[in-house]
Amino acid sequence: MSRPPLLEALRERVLLGDGAMGTEIQRAGLESGGCGEAWNLDHPERVLAIQRRYVEAGSDVLLSHTFGACRIMLNRHGEGERTADINRAAVAIAREALGDTGYVLGDIGPFGGLMEPYGDIASADVERAFREQARALVEGGADGIIVETQTAFEELALAIEAAKEAGARVVIGSIAFDKMVEEDDVRTMMGVSPEQAAEFMAAHGCDVAALNCGTYIDMAMAARIVARYRAACGLPVMAQPNAGQPVLENMQVLYKETPAEMAAGLPALLAAGPRIVGGCCGSTPDHIRLFRAILDRGRTAEVAAR
Ligand SMILES: [Zn+2]
Repeated sequence: MSRPPLLEALRERVLLGDGAMGTEIQRAGLESGGCGEAWNLDHPERVLAIQRRYVEAGSDVLLSHTFGACRIMLNRHGEGERTADINRAAVAIAREALGDTGYVLGDIGPFGGLMEPYGDIASADVERAFREQARALVEGGADGIIVETQTAFEELALAIEAAKEAGARVVIGSIAFDKMVEEDDVRTMMGVSPEQAAEFMAAHGCDVAALNCGTYIDMAMAARIVARYRAACGLPVMAQPNAGQPVLENMQVLYKETPAEMAAGLPALLAAGPRIVGGCCGSTPDHIRLFRAILDRGRTAEVAAR
């Protein structure tokens, strides 16, 4: 394959990520409470169809469909024994969707609980689960690993370490911030500021500092966090905000910004200087398609100005 390494490619141009997976999987028929990650083995064609839509919309970078595919998460669905197979298959599906271009980031999400002493899960068990998942993602051929929707340094550190040990060529940490009610500021659920997050990720050897998801993290808020990351560390930055502010409907949190509304925030986000942009909750292939158009227009202008 002639494609340049991911870190080289993102220096050359802003890369486009993908959008939400969970909602697309539900739309494709996953019943609520079902194990979406098991579809990598049981219905690979459905996962592939969704990821193909993102590639057709213009994504350069796909996250493997493995957000909830560490053994601790899969055990809750009785799928723990298939952990390695699920992760390897997911990378292969994303690679098939991309063909011989683009980049697959093996996705490690939160293990979904609290570690001792705050919760009942031993850090050694979390460490083991992340190591197993990271190894399978690298074996599957991922171009890098993204540890995403993270709120606590302890967990983030274990997953970064696991990704590095597994030999991931690129390691990305991605933090979920919440807008604070009282102040015009953001922190993670565990109290981490963007500056602290950026410094932590740089100190722990991440190649890219990212943010995704969170509460009230829309395009405008993402632009502000990107700027704060860049002021705090020298790493390239990735941003995958949600499609607008959350709306509560029928006991469900929805993100309803249309593709045009979300894409209207892209120029300001790009002005803050991220090197990979995409979407989290509520974003769809249609959102990503408009992002692509804006990025391509910017690129044409940039080349013409040279
Ligand atoms: Zn999200």
